Amino acid sequence: MTVYLFDFDGTLVDSHEAVEKALRLAIERTIPAVIESELYDEYYRALFLFIKGKLTYRHLGVIHELVAQGTIHEYYRLMPTFIKDFPNARRVVRTLRKRGRLVVSFSGEHTYPGGKVIFLKKTNWYDEFDSIVTFKGTGDMLQKFESMRDLHPDEPIVWIDDSPSRFTYVTDDNTLLVQKASPYKHDVALLFERDNFLKIRNIREVLDIDDRLGEFME
Ligand SMILES: [Mg+2]
Repeated sequence: MTVYLFDFDGTLVDSHEAVEKALRLAIERTIPAVIESELYDEYYRALFLFIKGKLTYRHLGVIHELVAQGTIHEYYRLMPTFIKDFPNARRVVRTLRKRGRLVVSFSGEHTYPGGKVIFLKKTNWYDEFDSIVTFKGTGDMLQKFESMRDLHPDEPIVWIDDSPSRFTYVTDDNTLLVQKASPYKHDVALLFERDNFLKIRNIREVLDIDDRLGEFME
């Protein structure tokens, strides 16, 4: 049984615009006085860094204010409502499962532990998968991948992700690494030299890959 690992943000759903829209609206609704002031950019930047988990000490004062005003809470309330499925994404996942493949959500954790599962539930994606795996950093990701491989030692794995840099650490030959093209992510030149790497434009191409998997995995 082939195992499919799907990244979430940027692969199955377009969350890029959702992040921008929710950042802006959360500030507008909770601290409207800031909109017209020169502080706006700094508040926006601090909130952006916070949700990306890259907060610096310089912004700590602003973050304290954003917490006090409920801006961060409002951001997390709004964001999932703006997330849009990529065309064909749900159909592809459902078709693979109908074909008897094991389909796993394999994606990075959000800022706070458990956040990703909440997002998967709010966007009605949670029940589309056979199982859900989330990871923190690269080390954790590789460990979770190894556990997946241990569970299915002989099965081909197909890993679809819009962040090709993640693939550079993966040496498993029985895994097909599929980069979903994204306007926000750079290619990794070295990957194009590998036999078990492919880049696709549209997620529906995964079904063609599934049809012809034998050709890729020799
Ligand atoms: Mg992604």
